[in-house]
Amino acid sequence: MDDSRRTVASPATANMAAAANRPANPIDAILQIIRDGERFLVCSHSRPDGDAVGSVLAMGKFLEQIGKRADLVTADRIPAVYRKLPGAIGMRTALRVHGPYDAAILLECDSAERTRLRGLERFPIVNIDHHASGRAWGQVNWIDREAASVGELVYRLIKAADATITPEIATCLYTTLLTDTGGFIYGGVRASTFALAAELVIAGADPIRISKDTYFCTPMSKLLLLGAALNNLHREGRIAWMWITHHDMVRTCAAEEDCEGIVNYALSIADVEAAVFLRELPEQRIRMSLRSKGKINVAAIAEGLGGGGHENAAGCTVDGPLARALEEILAELRPRVAAGAAKHGSGSG
Ligand code: 5GP
Ligand code: MN
Repeated sequence: MDDSRRTVASPATANMAAAANRPANPIDAILQIIRDGERFLVCSHSRPDGDAVGSVLAMGKFLEQIGKRADLVTADRIPAVYRKLPGAIGMRTALRVHGPYDAAILLECDSAERTRLRGLERFPIVNIDHHASGRAWGQVNWIDREAASVGELVYRLIKAADATITPEIATCLYTTLLTDTGGFIYGGVRASTFALAAELVIAGADPIRISKDTYFCTPMSKLLLLGAALNNLHREGRIAWMWITHHDMVRTCAAEEDCEGIVNYALSIADVEAAVFLRELPEQRIRMSLRSKGKINVAAIAEGLGGGGHENAAGCTVDGPLARALEEILAELRPRVAAGAAKHGSGSG
């Protein structure tokens, strides 16, 4: 695979790379930084999901294996379902990072803000991402929008370094693949996704155990929250939406992480093309999860509202109240859904 072809190059980065005599290929450039350094920070976005946690842990294990020190930090705690992953106990929750570090390796973050960590600006940034909204904001940038998970990129990095995919690393990386493809069902899944999954199983990942740990360890609070969301399920043609209030969160004793995936129930409705899940935050802000079955680019909508993500799965946080946020997103979706229906020659559903 030609990785340099898929890299988003920025003139600033190119200049810096030339000045520092860095290889043009992002994998080589990242490995050079790792070889030259001793101590690294590895982070991902706030409200970490399976890809964020699994890829940070795998990167940490890789650095450890080649004799480096790595601090693994996220702004929010690891969701309960991922706390059994190898090394999860060593991951730290903090809002500020101190160092010193030779570089901060950021996984699936399109900006420093996405991490909600303070203090990053003091370190060279290695930016590894697979989002449609990914941009070249680090000193070295490796953005591959075709990767099924950012864990897939970590895998390629480890292989390029000739290091070993241990059973622990394989378990973490398999989790990134499983969760970012929604159990191998989302748009980005291709033959290479299954080939990588097979390699990880051969390397020691136990697919049955990982699936059980991920999908059959749901806290009761999440199902109660789902009940509240389903009570507020609505549909207009090919768009479906649901919401929960702050009061619902309190009443069901739900944690933020319990919101993950709820939007998929709205998307699962026959003939629905786009789905939205809205959640009231305490300070009059509204968190939105956007999903599409493929015809509508929700990353573009989320980016327009200050967020980002993938073409079929994106998110953002907007001003409340709930009714206003709902109108705002429906106003974005309606014309796109209508245009999509016209383009694909189907009637309204
Ligand atoms: P979710 O709806 O599950 O929170 O997020 C769906 C996808 O969009 C994930 O890949 C997530 O990283 C991305 N995403 C969600 N919210 C934001 C946001 O506020 N900013 C950016 N850049 N990406 C987001
Ligand atoms: Mn991801």
